[in-house]
Amino acid sequence: MNLHIQNKWALVCAASKGLGKGCAAALVAEGVNVVITARGAEALEATAAALRKIPGAGEVRAVAGDITTAEGRVAALAACPQIDILVNNAGGPPPGDFRQWDRDIWMKAIDANMLTPIELIKAVVDDMAARGYGRIVNITSGAVKAPIDVLGLSNGARSGLTGFVAGLARSSIAAHGVTINGLLPGAFDTERLQTTLRAGAVKAGRDPETAIAARQASIPARRFGSADEFGAMCAFLCSVQAGYITGQNVLMDGGSYPGTF
Ligand code: NAD
Repeated sequence: MNLHIQNKWALVCAASKGLGKGCAAALVAEGVNVVITARGAEALEATAAALRKIPGAGEVRAVAGDITTAEGRVAALAACPQIDILVNNAGGPPPGDFRQWDRDIWMKAIDANMLTPIELIKAVVDDMAARGYGRIVNITSGAVKAPIDVLGLSNGARSGLTGFVAGLARSSIAAHGVTINGLLPGAFDTERLQTTLRAGAVKAGRDPETAIAARQASIPARRFGSADEFGAMCAFLCSVQAGYITGQNVLMDGGSYPGTF
């Protein structure tokens, strides 16, 4: 399927690895010019080089910086001649017990996973509306639909973003070709997932391979999702064909969420 987004410009945040990289790769394969960001320049440049090798690749620019800071956002935005597609992403907050979290810890999570995407949306959405085309995809988490007790910082901050976006997506921008959707990962086979599962297993005195196999067995699909699958859905949400999908939260979790709706 031709998604009709060739030559558009996308800013894909936090994209040197994992889900962000999957989204960037899928957009590049559609002929979208991309600006990718991540904190570490080395991994980011390696990813940019790999993206440039994708058949049909247009321009690929890499901007090293922390997207949760004002400077990081200014640098990322400045690298795009215009932004037709914005994929919001950043590292997730750590797990823990809310009794140990003070205001600073909460503010860090809210900054990274709620206010940073809102700042970036603010920077691009009116220009998108003026041009009559815009696609914003927020990478959040399945925890927005089915909260995970130890991920209270993530549950809270990402639900705040989701609630805000639900209103904005249905505002006047909808009539100007701008859509905003959430893409909610369940368990995807990324560096973060592997590191988290292995560390958890070691802490619990379990064999990491056995723990990973057990986690996969707990998912109806009996496997983790891949960054390629995630990227393909992201690219579709950015397509011309997806123009009537807005304010939605698309859960990709291999069937883990137990509800009918
Ligand atoms: P990952 O660790 O594999 O990759 C994260 C990427 O983000 C890396 O490129 C890293 O350099 C970059 N990054 C992190 N913080 C950044 C920052 N402040 N500024 C710029 N770049 C930054 O992680 P992932 O598994 O791809 O997860 C992406 C997001 O999805 C995270 O918020 C995570 O919590 C969430 N999530 C992931 C899963 C999963 O199963 N992988 C499930 C639910 C939610």
